[in-house]
Amino acid sequence: MIKFFMPDKIFESFKDITPEFLSEKGIRALLLDIDNTLVTYDDPDPTEEVVLWLKSMEQKGIKAAFVSNNEDPARVERFNKELGYFAVSRAGKPLPGGFRRALKAMGVEAKHAASIGDQIFTDVWAAKNTGAYAFLVPPIKDKTTLFFKTKRLLEKPIIKRYKKLNGGK
Ligand SMILES: [Mg+2]
Repeated sequence: MIKFFMPDKIFESFKDITPEFLSEKGIRALLLDIDNTLVTYDDPDPTEEVVLWLKSMEQKGIKAAFVSNNEDPARVERFNKELGYFAVSRAGKPLPGGFRRALKAMGVEAKHAASIGDQIFTDVWAAKNTGAYAFLVPPIKDKTTLFFKTKRLLEKPIIKRYKKLNGGK
């Protein structure tokens, strides 16, 4: 069961994921979470580093789409305003529907795509349900509600197992 929640790789930050690394794995498209993965919940627009990182992907022919569970479509729309990628709000991750729509729009098969997100029980699981690579990054700034704290607590055994399988990395 744990394999459904096991990230293929954990990165310190989205910035550590390079087009070269993706190309080596045959990854041609990214399924991007927004909140706490690329920016905090409080950032309405992409930061300069997010834009530069996305441009570096574009230059190497790697496509990207935003697939967010955010309940507010206006948040996703504004974030995507300048970039103009395919974008889904209320994606319902871990269900695969949002990822599948994005893959269809980009014309890329799931096995050539990777999800980047900060949550195991939405982002990683959705990737597994879709057949895409699952890359996990730590949340930029965690919410402190009890719901979020509980989720993080449940994620801990999976992170521990990942580290054991990957030699403490
Ligand atoms: Mg998130």
